Amino acid sequence: MEHRQLGNKGTEIMLHYICKTCGTQFAATDRPPAHCPICEDERQYIGWEGQQWTTLETLQQNYHNVIKPVEPNLTGIGTNPAFAIGQRALLVQTAQGNILWDCTSLIDEPTVAAVKDLGGISAIAISHPHYYASMVEWSRAFDAPIYLHADDRQWVMRPDPAIEFWPGETKSLGQGLTLIRCGGHFAGGTVLHWAAGAEEKGALLSGDILQVVSDRRYVSFMYSYPNLIPLPAKTVQQIVATVDPYPFDRIYGAWWDRVVKSDAKAAVARSAKRYIAALEG
Ligand SMILES: [Zn+2]
Ligand SMILES: [Zn+2]
Repeated sequence: MEHRQLGNKGTEIMLHYICKTCGTQFAATDRPPAHCPICEDERQYIGWEGQQWTTLETLQQNYHNVIKPVEPNLTGIGTNPAFAIGQRALLVQTAQGNILWDCTSLIDEPTVAAVKDLGGISAIAISHPHYYASMVEWSRAFDAPIYLHADDRQWVMRPDPAIEFWPGETKSLGQGLTLIRCGGHFAGGTVLHWAAGAEEKGALLSGDILQVVSDRRYVSFMYSYPNLIPLPAKTVQQIVATVDPYPFDRIYGAWWDRVVKSDAKAAVARSAKRYIAALEG
């Protein structure tokens, strides 16, 4: 993993700094970036101790990834102790190759070895910029393209030729896997429909575009979670209409155990109804 490289004069050290609050890895610079645009955006926040940076090498010394199955052909990958936003990624395994859904800031040798044992990664797809994390490091470790929605292009902090921006409303990844743009939280906010998931009843891997809430019988739809900025009723209706044509019985949210285990389509419908009723008083 080439996150350290010498500058032109061979003296200054260029590093890919990682924002400690959102976990995003940046293009290499010879000193920490002045700002994190993702944290300065009203959907996130600057850490209470001020903007702070780390590097992948430092994370590798202080954190490890937990890798464990969550259902047949679906494996979770999450960093311990929790780092930044604390999401766990998901590896969807198919006979034709595996998709890494969402991403973590930490990637290390044990993680690469464990994922190779599971068949490696054919492609990476990410719901929205809060989980771009160290996507380029993951891409290089597995020689995998990264699919991001074109409407979120401005939020890529480490551009790379491996990133493929896809436009429009859906993108098929084959093997019954479909990226679906829902918008809402971000213009390009995407969920992954996995037709073979949940014992062939279908599963949505939703990041926090549809956010599985604590009672795990409902989801929520927010413009900002940390700053509690809701979405308009019309947008919530659009999100529900967008996923409705796809069969799904289960929703995997962005964190371990944030799962609507069954009857998830009805959960989305009752969640939207409750949310819109609250907005409209
Ligand atoms: Zn940040
Ligand atoms: Zn988010």
